[in-house]
Amino acid sequence: MILSLLLLLGGPLQHSGWPLETPLDRLLIVSVDGLRSDALVSGGPAALPALHRLLSGTSTLNARTDPDITVTLPNHVGMLTGQFLSGADGHRWSENIDPPPGKTLEQQAGRYLPGIFDVAHDHGLRTALFAGKSKFSLFDLSWDQAHGRPDRTGADHGRDKLDEYRFDEDPGRLTASARLALQAADRTLVFLHYPMPDLAGHSSGWDLSPDSPYMKAVAQVDAELEVLMAAIQAWTEDGQRIGVILTADHGGGSPLHGHSRGTGLWVNYIIPFLVWSPWLEGGQDLYAAFPQRWTDPSIRQPGIRGPQPVRNLDAAGIALELLGLPSLIPAAAEALVPKKSPSVAD
Ligand SMILES: [Zn+2]
Repeated sequence: MILSLLLLLGGPLQHSGWPLETPLDRLLIVSVDGLRSDALVSGGPAALPALHRLLSGTSTLNARTDPDITVTLPNHVGMLTGQFLSGADGHRWSENIDPPPGKTLEQQAGRYLPGIFDVAHDHGLRTALFAGKSKFSLFDLSWDQAHGRPDRTGADHGRDKLDEYRFDEDPGRLTASARLALQAADRTLVFLHYPMPDLAGHSSGWDLSPDSPYMKAVAQVDAELEVLMAAIQAWTEDGQRIGVILTADHGGGSPLHGHSRGTGLWVNYIIPFLVWSPWLEGGQDLYAAFPQRWTDPSIRQPGIRGPQPVRNLDAAGIALELLGLPSLIPAAAEALVPKKSPSVAD
């Protein structure tokens, strides 16, 4: 109601956060591996209908990766924990290969590294992660029954913060898994990773000309998203409060078949960040909607200090806001949080 009133008064809608009167109950976070923003410019709404529908929410094509690294796994640690690679609270996970057996986020960071699945699971949501690369096993291990921390609030939902984890190279099965998981409980948080554009980019280059292998892979992701968007449409008509965040771990093309040439070239670090839900006002630029929170960086890649652009790691904070959950607490403040007294279930 207040939102509509502000819209009637005219001018861009300015938020400090996403305090929804009624939070969403289900959220899907999609990470498209190696998706450059200009792929959505090169491929218009006719070629990429689902991506353009998501773009019509509150979105920007000028979001950023982590400032210090443009490879897959470290940027996903950022998306799931809200932390940079470096700095006092940094997650410190710079490797981009299958993690060594037994190695967890906590071991690398030197402290327990809570993520969005901790907050969601402790508050009773069902959580799931589906990924198209095997290295995502890092998250399943780091937050499992043995390595996840005890539940901190309300009823005890246990230490295994991820109810479901699946690595699958088949995009259709990833989509089907995500679709089922979104409906597996009344409140759900699902993270879905599609690898196809990155794989095509490495084999044939980040070539944005029509019908290039890279653009075909982006269209393949779009076709999978169409399946999910159709389901979300039907669930919304049933009254389900559901939303989607879509971003990317990095772009690519420097060098042409990669994304590892330093972090200095825009093709590697400019990515989309799209927030969409039938329950949210759409049609807004993220920077215009949140002028106090983010600063449009133009073509630059700012460091971790100073005004910040929208980054893929903001997926963590925005997801929790949309779901009406508390934010992740930085490590410095974490020490002050009283722990629940251990119960038998711990
Ligand atoms: Zn790659």
